[in-house]
Amino acid sequence: MGQEPVRRRDHAYRHATVVVATLLLPLALVVTRGRRFRERACEWAFRIRYPAESLAGLTPETRAAFVAARCAALWHDAELIGVTSGHRLFAEQEELFQEAVTSYGSEPRAREWVLPPQESAHVQGIAVDVRPTEGARWLERHGDRFGLYRTYANEWWHFEYHPSYRATGRRPPMRPTPGTLPARY
Ligand SMILES: [Zn+2]
Repeated sequence: MGQEPVRRRDHAYRHATVVVATLLLPLALVVTRGRRFRERACEWAFRIRYPAESLAGLTPETRAAFVAARCAALWHDAELIGVTSGHRLFAEQEELFQEAVTSYGSEPRAREWVLPPQESAHVQGIAVDVRPTEGARWLERHGDRFGLYRTYANEWWHFEYHPSYRATGRRPPMRPTPGTLPARY
């Protein structure tokens, strides 16, 4: 019962963002040559919806795949996909990891949620943490078209760009936690 107003608000945000993106289409068409004007309008609308988020530091390929994916989600299904965390600096990831070691009590337990910087896909610029859950579900269903995959069973929000899988039609194996070693090890 208590969730209903939130859901109604989310619904309003989704449709408001579609309306804003639609209104921005003519301007995007003027300033963008080629087919990318729909993505441009979409990204402008996302900047209004999620003003604090940043795609800076992602590899250009990861960023392009993510923008294409969330534009498809918005235009085709009126689904919003926001970024809570994208690229992280080595030092930022080190700090997150050390904080996790302190709060979980050991490195192995910390690694169930946060990897050290040498191993983190966020530091490599190929990972995005997304919100809300509906947006993450959309990305889990359709992300393979863009080379974007959920990689950890315990993190519904974490997606990585792995273009090598797109050609094969397979998905990278989902590991239970970030700290679980890949099967080949
Ligand atoms: Zn993540």
